[in-house]
Amino acid sequence: MINPVPALKVSRFIKPNPDTPYHIDFDWWNKADRDLRVYLRSHLCTVHREMYAESLTNTTIDWVDPQTAEVKPMDGILYQLRLHCSQQPDYITDQTSVVDAVFRVFLVNDNQPMSPRELGERIGKDAELILKTISGKTVYKGLRPVAESAG
Ligand SMILES: [Zn+2]
Repeated sequence: MINPVPALKVSRFIKPNPDTPYHIDFDWWNKADRDLRVYLRSHLCTVHREMYAESLTNTTIDWVDPQTAEVKPMDGILYQLRLHCSQQPDYITDQTSVVDAVFRVFLVNDNQPMSPRELGERIGKDAELILKTISGKTVYKGLRPVAESAG
């Protein structure tokens, strides 16, 4: 290895538009060493937030994929989010910030890529506003275009 320092992904930069597919780049969390678990916890409903407030250990639940009937290990917090908290009426409201609302959509849709236009329809916000928020120089909560994060 001549250059052990990871190169900046400048060359990969694409100009995003309202139809650019985005997702949560979980690698961003690992590399940046930010506390994903603390952030995940903040999306839980009040009841589950209290339940997980004390738990510092990672609890994993065996989750059965409804499509493939395959048993997959799933993070306990993520499991509660999908099963319960995301079903609550206040999961995404007008008061939820754009970044949080977008992140919450990806948390429950299995991180399937969605464009700002599609996200806007889902969370009831303007596609241009979403684009402006998540396409800037600062990466918020790992929300990045799929093309940029791959590889
Ligand atoms: Zn809950």
